[in-house]
Amino acid sequence: MAGYEPVIGLEVHAQMRSRTKLFCGCPTDYGAPPNEHTCPVCLGLPGALPVPNEKAIELAVRAGLALGCQVAPHSRFARKNYFYPDLAKGYQISQFELPLNEKGHLDIEVEGEAKRIGITRIHVEEDAAKNLHGIGSGAVTLVDFNRAGTPLIEIVSEPDLRGADEAEAYLKKLRDILMFIGVNDGNLEEGSFRCDANVSIRPAGQTELGTRAELKNINSFRFVKKAIEHEIARQEGVLQGGGEVVQETRTWLEAQNKTVSMRGKEEAHDYRYFPDPDLPPLAFDAKRIEALRQALPELPEAKRARWQKDLGLTEYDAGVLSAHPEVAKYFEAAAEALAKRADKMKASEAGKKVGNFIQSEVLRHVSTDGLSATFPVGPSAVAGLLAVVEDGTINGKIAKKVFATMVDTGKSARAIIDEGGFAQVTDKGAIEDEVRRVLEANPSQVQQYKGGKTGVLGFFVGQVMKATQGAANPKMVNETLKRLLDAP
Ligand code: ADP
Ligand code: MG
Ligand code: ZN
Repeated sequence: MAGYEPVIGLEVHAQMRSRTKLFCGCPTDYGAPPNEHTCPVCLGLPGALPVPNEKAIELAVRAGLALGCQVAPHSRFARKNYFYPDLAKGYQISQFELPLNEKGHLDIEVEGEAKRIGITRIHVEEDAAKNLHGIGSGAVTLVDFNRAGTPLIEIVSEPDLRGADEAEAYLKKLRDILMFIGVNDGNLEEGSFRCDANVSIRPAGQTELGTRAELKNINSFRFVKKAIEHEIARQEGVLQGGGEVVQETRTWLEAQNKTVSMRGKEEAHDYRYFPDPDLPPLAFDAKRIEALRQALPELPEAKRARWQKDLGLTEYDAGVLSAHPEVAKYFEAAAEALAKRADKMKASEAGKKVGNFIQSEVLRHVSTDGLSATFPVGPSAVAGLLAVVEDGTINGKIAKKVFATMVDTGKSARAIIDEGGFAQVTDKGAIEDEVRRVLEANPSQVQQYKGGKTGVLGFFVGQVMKATQGAANPKMVNETLKRLLDAP
């Protein structure tokens, strides 16, 4: 039997980083006591009128531009009508036939090659409130309206993805971009980046799409992959058993490792969409769109390419150091500061040294929470430390010890070295004494060296460094060893 080809299209809801809600001035802060951040507008009280949040809509344009969309000169809000206790108005304000952004794309890597995934549209909408089941006495459901009216963008992809791996790559890249442009905090656990996956299969070679199931309730990258894989397998089982896949909404049950049917899939006409008469159309002229385009920060992919070209990083290093926007900023600031401080140091050298040090020493002390990150010491302190390695005051090994003290005490590298006697032994006489001691203690290795096995030099260097507890200047140790060993 010929195999089936999976077809996947993703709908991502991303909460925009706006201080206030989409149509009122209530704060969007997460974690407040229930119903603290509410007003007549976001409670859906009759007669309350929405006012669009300019900042939030600009963020949505920014997302559209970063994802290659055409920003509509005219777009419009629409009412999506349905009943649910978390939707007090009886409709959600969304966009329908005139969305803000259309026809974008995102390139993902598939088996080492770029594959372009189409983005159908990115529209603006408000979030619903949140139902809390089984609170208090247990038998009731309460509604928390803090989330109601939170600004979202919905990013709808074309059905261009061909498997769970591609879906995962698309989501990771999308999240990365939205975080770097400051539109979304990438917090899957807090629900500020949520994904519905539409999955169908078709016999390989067929162009017509199969019937899809829409998977809801997937809140981690790992679950997305698992849920899609299970759904593909389920649909294959249905078709192979002579059945038909029905169009429906299914939910992923992580504990049971399967998707189950929630309801038949609703169609757009079920929602009775119509333009919201309370809101004016949104107008963006070319000049304003251009200004927003100019203000776009550097995208992560461009950043990584520039680092590889100018800052001496490998592709791997660039990936690690750009895993979070704040880490990327930190690296850039430290590399720049080191290039400035250290004499005649090229940007690429400074970048490489800072990059290595951050990866080996700094990152394990870094913690991130959404878009914010905490660092053990500032980037200029790291540059200060690496600058004293460059000028030969201490070696790389001692630098690690000094760094540990910097983390513990908050003091500068210079102060710690001045107080703690960490400075490298650069006294010629002292180094020569130590070298002589090591040579005398190891006559057979000296014979080996003289017999042509010059590789034992490393052994001698190691012995001298050990004797000086890593404080000797390695370059001087090398030179002294060679001088004494090569002497007749
Ligand atoms: P709705 O909002 O009702 O879910 P849309 O037309 O907006 O419907 O489509 C939602 C998503 O479903 C899009 O990402 C689209 O690419 C995807 N999609 C549509 N048809 C299929 C299909 N047959 N198989 C897989 N994905 C599909
Ligand atoms: Mg959908
Ligand atoms: Zn409000």
